[in-house]
Amino acid sequence: LVNAIATQIGVALIQAEAYANLQDLNEQLEALDRTRSNLVAITGHELRTPLSTIQVCLESLASEPDMSPELRQVMLNTALEDAERMRKLVQDFLTLSQLESGRVEWNIEALDLQECVELSLSNVRARHKGTALPKIENHVKDELPLVRADGEWLVEVLAKLLDNACKFTSQEGKITLEVSSQTPYQLEVTVADTGRGIEPKRLETVFDRFYQEEGALRRSAGGTGLGLAICRQIVRGWGGKIWAESQGKDHGSQFHFTIPIYGDQMPKEPSQPTMR
Ligand code: ADP
Repeated sequence: LVNAIATQIGVALIQAEAYANLQDLNEQLEALDRTRSNLVAITGHELRTPLSTIQVCLESLASEPDMSPELRQVMLNTALEDAERMRKLVQDFLTLSQLESGRVEWNIEALDLQECVELSLSNVRARHKGTALPKIENHVKDELPLVRADGEWLVEVLAKLLDNACKFTSQEGKITLEVSSQTPYQLEVTVADTGRGIEPKRLETVFDRFYQEEGALRRSAGGTGLGLAICRQIVRGWGGKIWAESQGKDHGSQFHFTIPIYGDQMPKEPSQPTMR
């Protein structure tokens, strides 16, 4: 009888545990579903705003044949700018989803960091052609050890951090690129600017999807609010971390990320980084 009772108690305990696990799983699924709905709502909102502007512009152009040529040009430019914003948003959103879902095939190889830095600098300069940029100082030394990362994505992260630094720093300001080695296994890359800075409480949130401090004014600064979220996923892809520091508003920002040093298992010859 004692054995039978013990067995019953054992079965009841297993059932209770299974029930608790099921409850946990249910809660996790509900949380996942809430995240998914939030994401769809935010993305929908982000896309609807430029779409509405395009619609208003096109409606005015269609319904007012006597519109002055100047106003017509303004309407066309506004519609084109918002169409470009939508394109960037969709592209960044797809990149982020691809990275988050683990569907990216990483091409991890031995890379010369200095070459990647040079390539990102020329990408950024080409993108900002015609606009005066703050002074950019490259302090990355030539004789660094090779790093272990995906070259295309590494150039993407560097270019995004440089783009942001250019965007949030006045022409009189300065941007500095530096590399230090904190441990024998990894290098730390820093993109520092003397621009508008970030409030301490925002240093983590800047890496969230769609975070943009300027809120309603965001379109004047361009951008999708997805760039740093993409950078975080890329850096995680090679096992590094990324973080921001700032001495507060108008005192500049520093973005740092780590990157592993090439190990013995890697090929000896560095590969050329390529343009994405
Ligand atoms: P985007 O640049 O497209 O707005 P990001 O994800 O790259 O989106 O950046 C998110 C936000 O973080 C920016 O809108 C800005 O508010 C803040 N931020 C990013 N880089 C800097 C910087 N160098 N200086 C000050 N603020 C920055």
